[in-house]
Amino acid sequence: MQDDLYGAITIRGARENNLRNVSLDIPKRKITVFTGVSGSGKSSLVFGTIAAESQRLINETYPAFVQQFMPRYGQPDADQLENISAAIIVDQQRLGGNSRSTVATVTDTAQMLRVLFSRLAEPRLGAPSLYSYNDPRGMCPDCEGIGQVASMDMSAVVDESKSLNEGAILSKGFEVDSWWWSIYARSGLFDPNKPINQYSPEERANFFDLDDGRKVKVDKMNLTYEGLVPKLKRSLGSKDPETVQPHVRAEYERVFTRAICPACHGTRLNQAARTSLINGKSIADLSAMQVSDLALFIRSIEARQVGPMLHALALRLENLVTIGLGYLSLDRESSTLSGGESQRVKMVRHLGSSLTDITYVFDEPSVGLHPHDVGRLAGLMQQLRDKGNTVLIVEHKPDMIAIADHVVDMGPFAGSKGGVVVYQGDYKGLLAADTLTGKHMTRHQPIKDKVRQPKGEALRIEHARVNNLKDISVSIPRGVLTAVTGVAGSGKSSLIQTCLPSAYPDTIIIDQNLARGSRRSNTATYTGILDNVRKAFAKANDVEASLFSANSKGACPDCNGLGVIYTDLAHLDPTVTTCETCEGKRFLPEVLEHTLRGKSISDVYEMSIEEAAPFFTEPAIAKILGGLVDVGLGYLTLGQPLSTLSGGERQRLKLAAELGKKGNIYVLDEPTTGLHMNDVDTLIGLFDRLVDAGSTVIVIEHNLDVVSRADWVIDLGPGAGNEGGTVQFEGLPADLAKANTTLTGQHLAAR
Ligand code: ADP
Ligand code: ADP
Ligand code: ZN
Ligand code: ZN
Repeated sequence: MQDDLYGAITIRGARENNLRNVSLDIPKRKITVFTGVSGSGKSSLVFGTIAAESQRLINETYPAFVQQFMPRYGQPDADQLENISAAIIVDQQRLGGNSRSTVATVTDTAQMLRVLFSRLAEPRLGAPSLYSYNDPRGMCPDCEGIGQVASMDMSAVVDESKSLNEGAILSKGFEVDSWWWSIYARSGLFDPNKPINQYSPEERANFFDLDDGRKVKVDKMNLTYEGLVPKLKRSLGSKDPETVQPHVRAEYERVFTRAICPACHGTRLNQAARTSLINGKSIADLSAMQVSDLALFIRSIEARQVGPMLHALALRLENLVTIGLGYLSLDRESSTLSGGESQRVKMVRHLGSSLTDITYVFDEPSVGLHPHDVGRLAGLMQQLRDKGNTVLIVEHKPDMIAIADHVVDMGPFAGSKGGVVVYQGDYKGLLAADTLTGKHMTRHQPIKDKVRQPKGEALRIEHARVNNLKDISVSIPRGVLTAVTGVAGSGKSSLIQTCLPSAYPDTIIIDQNLARGSRRSNTATYTGILDNVRKAFAKANDVEASLFSANSKGACPDCNGLGVIYTDLAHLDPTVTTCETCEGKRFLPEVLEHTLRGKSISDVYEMSIEEAAPFFTEPAIAKILGGLVDVGLGYLTLGQPLSTLSGGERQRLKLAAELGKKGNIYVLDEPTTGLHMNDVDTLIGLFDRLVDAGSTVIVIEHNLDVVSRADWVIDLGPGAGNEGGTVQFEGLPADLAKANTTLTGQHLAAR
């Protein structure tokens, strides 16, 4: 790279996870795309090495006093890392946050709109914060800017056909003979043997609503009496359900239903803010508009005095449209966005930034995007580069790989069989490279000509109207592989993830969410292998199986069998360090002496699934391991914590756990996320076997290799949001390509 005047990020001897002494130069101010099968080491190089080093360097610039409150990023395992500039990681972590976090706040358009209203609206209120639902002067007083109010579901609280002694109060903590129950049953205000529905009007009022601080005598104690409704409102309703313990939250969700605030109609704003208008629209009206429509509205405002401000806002909205998010509204709560949508929303923030010489790191930015929108996304990546930034992208889609100035292809395979740079150079060179990526770039799955015949009665969704769906009805054939297609925001998830399960509750949705208790969970515990592994160790050594359990006395007392120590820091990701006592081996030396065919329990945790599959002859274990290899997860180690898995890996892990149940309806949302073209072939093979064994498989997919291998396609559109929500095509993939009438059909035909 000597001839390059921009210089390069230099990496020498990188060894994070499976990397095998990787040395390479990555050109600065260029787009570099990292390719390779899943598990080959792309993330270990890009996130685990380059981005991690950048974060560490940034943290070192803080004063020591501040640093002690920050996570200590260990130095990535490498001999030399140089020329790394500040990195911004734009990943698929969902934008969590409370209900006050919306698309508008995340993209900073909320502030821009408020300033605009403070300058142009009639009647003019004055300062920008008077239009903010986060400011007491702008918020609706009834719902305090939440837009929703909690109302109590009385049938969940009281069974009126019962008496107090029979357990009429259903709420947790009010069980018969409990302390709270006794305040009602022994207050002397009611007959504890009388069913609630026989109470006199006065008794009812006392029981449910009394709130005057009256004292009652219970078991010789003088207590303040409070009716059941004010009591529950105070104990449950006053807490933010997002922040309380899970059992309190569960009770909250059982007792309270959230409804749109009648005072502000969900707009979160007070009367004054709602009636201050620009061209007949309030700030709430604009926030509820689809972004693509709002961009046009802003462009239509004529006001020279705020011209630059209008232009900046319109530009940001247009960026959202370009990136394929024009169907969102600014008031959409960010916690409801998918991983792919979250990543693109975050991206828009940076597109507006004038920073240069930043290293931007993207994790499969095309996730959730129709091929139609991928081209525009690629354009935005090029804009970022042209501002003088270094752009690093982990990607699998050929259209995104094609924009690379430089390609780094990892391989040759996954896990211990990967970790090597198998090709680096320009895009043209990749097409000729003798690597899995190179070979797949020019080879597409042909459209299936012999499709399977459906079995039995089709699944029916009638008159679907959720979100943008325009009263549509569809039939989904059973016993085949169906692909549901359409641009992002056309309504695929609304139809398949919301409407289908309400018609057929036995539908199994295999999503990308993290399983609960993830810190203690790993591949072995989640799949249920571990129980059988312990039994095998116990049998071979004639000891008790519990000895090999992480909560037995055989486990390392310092890390409790985790092998690592987590240090929690408020508001920051916890740091993870290897346990010094057991050196990561999880168990006491005497436990490690017990072996199975030469391996200790700790060795087993370190094995990859692929290595473990031939090692374990025990049928129960072998079967599960086989399933994990089938879904393309053979490179994971048995002890790998679930928290380190990507969304796509989690989805495939869940799929593996569901395999072998016959006759199911499986629903998967973009199962090819994180998969190399080579892995996609494996996954399609798995779907084929599932279907042949009698299951119905429904995938929401953009990957045309999957669509072309489906037996049936349902294409939604024509556009996103308001412009979507109708069925454009139902039929065979070959006919979709032939008809050439929809965006999906056109892309399928053009391959
Ligand atoms: P890719 O990004 O190409 O899918 P990764 O870098 O995520 O690959 O993984 C490379 C290898 O490192 C795999 O064998 C994977 O199981 C392993 N690995 C990744 N993260 C961790 C981790 N936190 N702990 C242990 N092993 C890991
Ligand atoms: P797709 O799955 O095709 O990307 P979705 O079903 O997610 O499309 O979205 C269809 C429409 O419904 C979009 O306009 C989207 O903004 C809207 N929508 C989806 N989920 C929600 C939600 N939780 N709240 C409000 N609107 C939603
Ligand atoms: Zn309100
Ligand atoms: Zn330990």
